[in-house]
Amino acid sequence: MSSVDESLIREIVSEVLGRLGANGSATNPSAIAAGAANATSCGCGVKKGGGAGFRGKFGVFQDAEEACAAAQEAFVQLQKKGIAGRRRIEEIVKDLSETNAEEWGRMELEETKIGRLDHKIEKLKILKLVPGVEWLRPEARSGDHGITLEEFTPFGVVGAVTPSTHPIPTLSGNIVNIVAAGNSVVFNPHPSAVRCAAMAVRRYNEAIYRDIGIENVACVVEQPTMDSFKGICSHDAVRLLLVTGGPGVVKAAMQTGKRAICAGPGNPPVLVDDTACMERAAKAIIQGAAYDNNLLCIGEKEVFVLDKVADKLMGAMEKHGAFRLNSAQLEVLTKAAFSFKEGQGGGCAHAAVNRDFIGKDPIVLAQAAGVVIPAGTQLLFAETRADHPFVVEEQMMPFLPVVRVASVEEGVARAVEAEHGYKHTAIIHSHDVEAMTAMGRALDTTLFIKNGPCMAGLGLGGEGYLSFSIATPTGEGVSNPRTFTRVRRCVMVDNLRIY
Ligand code: NAD
Repeated sequence: MSSVDESLIREIVSEVLGRLGANGSATNPSAIAAGAANATSCGCGVKKGGGAGFRGKFGVFQDAEEACAAAQEAFVQLQKKGIAGRRRIEEIVKDLSETNAEEWGRMELEETKIGRLDHKIEKLKILKLVPGVEWLRPEARSGDHGITLEEFTPFGVVGAVTPSTHPIPTLSGNIVNIVAAGNSVVFNPHPSAVRCAAMAVRRYNEAIYRDIGIENVACVVEQPTMDSFKGICSHDAVRLLLVTGGPGVVKAAMQTGKRAICAGPGNPPVLVDDTACMERAAKAIIQGAAYDNNLLCIGEKEVFVLDKVADKLMGAMEKHGAFRLNSAQLEVLTKAAFSFKEGQGGGCAHAAVNRDFIGKDPIVLAQAAGVVIPAGTQLLFAETRADHPFVVEEQMMPFLPVVRVASVEEGVARAVEAEHGYKHTAIIHSHDVEAMTAMGRALDTTLFIKNGPCMAGLGLGGEGYLSFSIATPTGEGVSNPRTFTRVRRCVMVDNLRIY
């Protein structure tokens, strides 16, 4: 190599190192990202991102630290786009979810192998029912001492965990709510649904970038692990957590020390009394429990019915497309659907659900039970005792246990036991307002549906709005844009009250 070449190379290297910062860690990608991040820090202590390393990723990152820094950069960019920018993102996410529902629903089913295609598609098509920026109307006070405005303002970056049961709908609904509130978001998706999560995030960001020039408003860690979860939770830019899943992730989120909004598990009981219309109750129960093969956290998981109308209800369920198993078939299915620890038999409260049956079609359960069912059967059911594993566990299968009770009081007490204090969802079919009130008070659940299927509680056939994250143990309820805001008060003393 000539001396001219050498000095030219040295000059180039020195210039590159100079641009990267004093330590010159040119070969360490996180150092490059961190250097780039620091370059646009506003001095608040939180890295703002902004590196060339974030370009072209469209929200899909290998590393949690990088994903959070890119989301922080996007949050700063989003602030500059105002409400109009947030509204555009909301529209883009809703449009893409609807127009790609068939393709994305199929991808979800192929990857997760749980649920039903028709319902996977429907869940993506109904994203328009998720509320957006219109929910952030400020609240005003006006009086002798002037005017005061309370506004709903963003936190910054939200760290979110999504379940396997509705991966793209949850992620998409979360983006709408979180971004409408002015935040950006980083997802640690369920490992068994990561390909579809990354695909959707990329597609959303590409469209958002084309429209308003922000690349990483929703980020996803492409290989989610417990470490990436911890990385997101402990990142300085992440100011708030939203987790949607079972008891494990709720506990983990609550232990992080950050404020966590937790959409936790459920085991929704249904009570049917003798004042209800059995035909209507049967249809609603089948509609809710069969939906996506009973993957919904709000889905009917066990039925308590007054003894005197039990036969009528079960007859109506058979008439409307559910298939009744006898006790021998139930026993065979129970052994396949649960595992029991050594020394513990069927009916044990500690039965563990066999994941091979979660979200599978009724025919798979029927085969396990050794029974042939008619084509098009939506749901299987059988009479069980109140302490049966199908009652006690959140089984998420298209099978419903039906338990006879002697009175509304007994039914309510059994429902309280089965719900485990999750305070998630309960359903009653009754025309007796006192029975409804008694059940509502005793269960104290976030959703309490009367005379309809579970989804009526989320605006599908009932009044209300949709979210796929219902914050149960932490109490925020059906999440919406306000859930992801800080309330800030702005006071004008003695002026601007015109009259
Ligand atoms: P899951 O608990 O197995 O997983 C949910 C998410 O949490 C996944 O991303 C998983 O990787 C992560 N996770 C699990 N344990 C973790 C831990 N210890 N630390 C960090 N992350 C962890 O649940 P699932 O099977 O995907 O979904 C079904 C469960 O979610 C059911 O219990 C259902 O009731 C609940 N769910 C609740 C709502 C709601 O709105 N309340 C909505 C959907 C699902």
